[in-house]
Amino acid sequence: MKQVKLEEYNERSFQEAQIDKAIIAVGSIESHGGHLPFGCDTFVSYGLALEVAQRLENTVVVPPMWFGMSQHYNHKPMCISLTSKTLTHVYSEILDSLVSSGIKKVLVIIGHDGDIASMEIAARDIKLTYPEAGLAILDTWWITAGNLLPQDTFEVWGGLGHGGEGETSMGLAMFPELCDMSQAKGMVPDMDPNVKLVWNFQELTQYGASGAPEKATLEKGEKMRKVLVDYLVNFVKRMDHQGWRYKTQ
Ligand SMILES: [Zn+2]
Repeated sequence: MKQVKLEEYNERSFQEAQIDKAIIAVGSIESHGGHLPFGCDTFVSYGLALEVAQRLENTVVVPPMWFGMSQHYNHKPMCISLTSKTLTHVYSEILDSLVSSGIKKVLVIIGHDGDIASMEIAARDIKLTYPEAGLAILDTWWITAGNLLPQDTFEVWGGLGHGGEGETSMGLAMFPELCDMSQAKGMVPDMDPNVKLVWNFQELTQYGASGAPEKATLEKGEKMRKVLVDYLVNFVKRMDHQGWRYKTQ
């Protein structure tokens, strides 16, 4: 196995490895129902980050952010949350530390819906401060996996949901010892496809999960994991090739 965790390097080994890219995984500590662990979002994003980095050159994974903005889930126990303002500051300062110390190519893998807005604000500000930086964000892996896989991969709601069919399948593929399928229950909210109604989680479901976690399988999870890792590895290689900029004609 290649050494990819930043915290395991030292000054000399880091320089020798000529690291020029970092991956940051962010997640949350919050209820995902009775069937998935509190750390689910970080287990998934960090697990993907480590697998992607194994297949790239000159790339480290920074320690993951276990805490996110989870206040819209706090009717359930063990929601340990930062506010959006705090989280935005934290993300800004992590990105600033990386870019100002020479790691100018950064891939962010977001594991939790409540982190998306803060990361967007932080990354936009950092890009203005350091126009030479290349910053990329996978903000909704649960939608991306569905987009990349055949349409009939999932049985309910395209696999979506907090602790739903897709996320629970990823759990079965990545940390099966922490999944309890006997407790897998959720509800599917009838959401408008175009206009977003802002919700607190208890408006969507009476459980700690939404979607259809009981439809999750290891096989679906393996497909999601593989398609996401392959996609991200190819994405980073393509970005390296084109200087972390869009190609223009
Ligand atoms: Zn989750």
